[in-house]
Amino acid sequence: MKTVDLSIEEIGSLARDVFRANGCDSANADALVRTIVGAERDGSHSHGLFRVPGYVASLRSGKVNGQARPRVVATTPAIIKVHGDDGYAPLAIERGIPALTQAAKQIGIAAMAMTHVHHFAALWPETEAIAAEGLIGLACVSYLPCMAPAGGRSALFGTNPISFAWPRPGKDPVVFDMATAAMAMGEVQLAARGGRDVPPGTGLDANGDVSTDPNAILKGVLLPFGGYKGSAIALMVELLAAGAVGERFSFEAAEADVKDGGPPRGGEFMLAISPELLAGSDWAAHSELFFERFERIEGARLPGLRRHRNRRAGAMRRVDADLIARIRALAG
Ligand code: NDP
Repeated sequence: MKTVDLSIEEIGSLARDVFRANGCDSANADALVRTIVGAERDGSHSHGLFRVPGYVASLRSGKVNGQARPRVVATTPAIIKVHGDDGYAPLAIERGIPALTQAAKQIGIAAMAMTHVHHFAALWPETEAIAAEGLIGLACVSYLPCMAPAGGRSALFGTNPISFAWPRPGKDPVVFDMATAAMAMGEVQLAARGGRDVPPGTGLDANGDVSTDPNAILKGVLLPFGGYKGSAIALMVELLAAGAVGERFSFEAAEADVKDGGPPRGGEFMLAISPELLAGSDWAAHSELFFERFERIEGARLPGLRRHRNRRAGAMRRVDADLIARIRALAG
């Protein structure tokens, strides 16, 4: 793969140009830029620049509102509802999280139901934003059906990611953010583009047979991680991100979607919990004892560590030159 070195600022300015040239106002473009830049900075490559052509496709088709004005309402002291006005999720997330975290700090726990958003990104930005306020964060979204429940051969679940963040005052939070598919769709697409096989168990081909060819799997279905156990978590994500927030399940999202290459309309479920109010004031010191034990285990590492190390890795990032050329063309 031919690559080019760009600074974080250059990545941000390229992304801003392309979103502004394709119908986003500055508030929506800036929120998207923060998402793309954060993904490239942290090495979340499947959800950074790689997603820009898909974002643009849905702005151009008119499916996604580039001028969205998300509306945030607290319907009870613990329930925050965010209507995304059919825009991309990042602005709705940024507008909703202050209300969510304020509620959780006051009463110990709060949930946020986001509807009418198009989510095409990683979930750690939202759970880390919750953890930055000293709260435990949980987030999940559904997508388009591309994954079969364990034992089945037809798609019902999206790749249904879930992210959890645990705050550590004065340190990076512990964060996991993972698709419930054995491999995220973006990673399978990257393997297909790179001509690399994927591990057995990633998915089935169009005939329902096990395959390691990413192109064949893209015509068939993905499988959940960990057999029926991952399948159960994917089911929970579907129920939380659609059933619990009052938005479309993955199968409903697909029926309504115009299939322009961008993400469908869907929902997001978020939870914020105060460890201070739940466990008492020694929660942080107590949890550090656990992390000390964890870190003593040779070969194990905390989730999120790779990204946080990448975050501090200087100003330049190596990116796919062909992708940059495509994005420049989209910016006109
Ligand atoms: P990975 O399998 O790469 O990583 C999953 C988690 O495991 C990360 O938190 C990662 O931390 C951690 N991890 C990885 N390797 C290790 C290890 N050896 N030891 C300990 N922890 C480890 O992620 P996925 O490919 O499943 O998902 C990629 C992204 O795709 C996610 O950000 C997800 O939100 C996004 N996604 C978004 C969708 C959407 O519709 N918006 C749909 C599906 C996925 P670290 O980052 O530090 O490596």
